[in-house]
Amino acid sequence: MRALQYVEIGSPPRVVEVETPEPAAGQVRLKVTAAGLCHSDEFVMSLPEEAYTFGLPLTLGHEGAGIVDALGDGVTGVAVGDSVAVYGPWGCGVCHACARGAENCCPYAADLGIAPPGLGAPGAIAEYLIVDDVRHLVPLGDLDPVRNVSLTDAGLTPYHAIRTVMPHLVAGSTAVVIGTGGLGHVGIQILRALTGARVIALDVNDEKLALAKEVGAHEALLSDADAAGKIKELTGGLGAEVVLDFVGAAPTIATAMGSVAMEGAVEIVGIGGGTATVGFGATPYDAAVRVPYWGSRSELIEVLDMAHRGQIHVEIETFSLDEAPTAYERLHAGDIRGRAVVLP
Ligand code: NAD
Ligand code: ZN
Repeated sequence: MRALQYVEIGSPPRVVEVETPEPAAGQVRLKVTAAGLCHSDEFVMSLPEEAYTFGLPLTLGHEGAGIVDALGDGVTGVAVGDSVAVYGPWGCGVCHACARGAENCCPYAADLGIAPPGLGAPGAIAEYLIVDDVRHLVPLGDLDPVRNVSLTDAGLTPYHAIRTVMPHLVAGSTAVVIGTGGLGHVGIQILRALTGARVIALDVNDEKLALAKEVGAHEALLSDADAAGKIKELTGGLGAEVVLDFVGAAPTIATAMGSVAMEGAVEIVGIGGGTATVGFGATPYDAAVRVPYWGSRSELIEVLDMAHRGQIHVEIETFSLDEAPTAYERLHAGDIRGRAVVLP
């Protein structure tokens, strides 16, 4: 089969021919219908050799959807021909976190050598994908896999971040979304569907700001050194109850910390290399800072339910497998509107 692999540190990924995998006992093979490209792949491919831990060659793609194509011994619960989405942050399946469905926070996965597809295990930007267990599949039903595959990360991650701070987002509250790319533009829709908060979006790119307004942001501001001050002005000097930073770089974290209200919450979702200073004098009283990672199995079911009800959607640009390296170049250049989706 053909797959997009990261082969060499520092070199662009390329389309290669690899052996079509066979599902072992308990595993499911999917014929991939769609795979999303995430900025985290960019992060992974930017790491120097000493910090890179994902194995080479690495078949990319941690947002996957497919048609069940072959079942390993003993697999029940899905049938060949089912259209499914893949839950990516695989855990051990039996610990306390996994029992709650929070496999994203399984403390044993790394030691057991369990890694998400595309982030250690072979990923979804390939003709076929092996999924380690049927519990990591969610039926898509009549949802279009191409339009919805990215809900497995670009939907699930903001949903998880927002769900945790929902008690802050009462009527009259304000939520700030920094970075209105793949995750951010879905995050805005989730905020609008689930809360009464006013949504202020920040980005450095005018087209992304236009997209933010289109998907429901009330205000769209340039993300610069004045942004925190403008958010304070828009909130009568109080700041925002919730700030979601989908960039996570030093300047955006500074904006987040400078615009959160007392008793508010900052969620640093982006892996932009910045860190927050927390302490008396640096942080408003009773404010919290969290670093959410992906989401739980039940949350993915909830996100897909929102899509079924028409409450959220993903703006996509589609690419063939051969065009996938170009799609990553465009993602790197900040030139993708919404999410890039590859149809292998
Ligand atoms: P993306 O490239 O689609 O979107 C990033 C957006 O941020 C773009 O619109 C870009 O214009 C904007 N931006 C860049 N610099 C900015 C700045 N200084 N101020 C405001 N906006 C700025 O990326 P994505 O796929 O949505 O991912 C967003 C971040 O979240 C990445 O760092 C990614 O690695 C991370 N991520 C984290 C998790 C998690 O579990 N925590 C999961 C997925 C992705
Ligand atoms: Zn991701």
